Amino acid sequence: MRKPVIAANWKMYKTPAQAQEFLQSFLPLVADDTRDEILLFPSYVDLSVAIAATAGSNVSVGAQNIHYAEEGAYTGEISPSMVEALGATHVLVGHSERRQYFGETDQIVNKKIHAAIHHGLTPVICMGETLEEREAGRTEEALLLHCQESLKGIIPQVAENFIIAYEPIWAIGTGKTATPEMAGMAHFFIRTQIAHLLGRHTADRIRILYGGSVKPENACALLNQPEVDGALVGGASLDPYSFAKIVNY
Ligand code: PEP
Repeated sequence: MRKPVIAANWKMYKTPAQAQEFLQSFLPLVADDTRDEILLFPSYVDLSVAIAATAGSNVSVGAQNIHYAEEGAYTGEISPSMVEALGATHVLVGHSERRQYFGETDQIVNKKIHAAIHHGLTPVICMGETLEEREAGRTEEALLLHCQESLKGIIPQVAENFIIAYEPIWAIGTGKTATPEMAGMAHFFIRTQIAHLLGRHTADRIRILYGGSVKPENACALLNQPEVDGALVGGASLDPYSFAKIVNY
């Protein structure tokens, strides 16, 4: 049995005071929920506040990005050891907004995954097709390439702890959601490719989350798909009551 994961991506929202305020409201709403693993991806400046506020709870905190280098002259970047030193446990890798606005490729994503593992950070690897790819019937081709390139050099025993987020790019922040059947089929395809690349044992353990305009109203139908092991939630995770509703779907 794979434990469901419900993750919040706060993107570039919330000051430390707003993060604190969110957690004061949110934590009592999910305090007894041991069914799901809850992950929070705030901005770097909110990491310390979020880690302190969630200590002893069932919420883990991760960074939205890392650089793959150990350290160096990379102005404005954050290294994996910096994130690790703060007490973060997870890191988002290859979010479509990073790919779209900051030129992140599958090759860079692969380097970041290796850096994350080296620092004991669990990567949440984002992948998904563009609208153009879906309309051209190339969704599976795009997902296959993401799997092959981003998982290069990863050994199966390490990969079984990974989390993958299937996020069709056309559904992120647009209000358009994949139907539960579309999500289920894409998840099944990704898991089959992981089985080819890393073996059935690993494929059966990796959690695959759906992301793309998940809201309290559609969470249940998506999360009830057998291949969907949870959700990565952007916009609807900014409000503690709305995110708690998704956690308690
Ligand atoms: C995301 O940021 O990963 C995301 C899925 O955003 P939204 O839920 O707003 O579409």
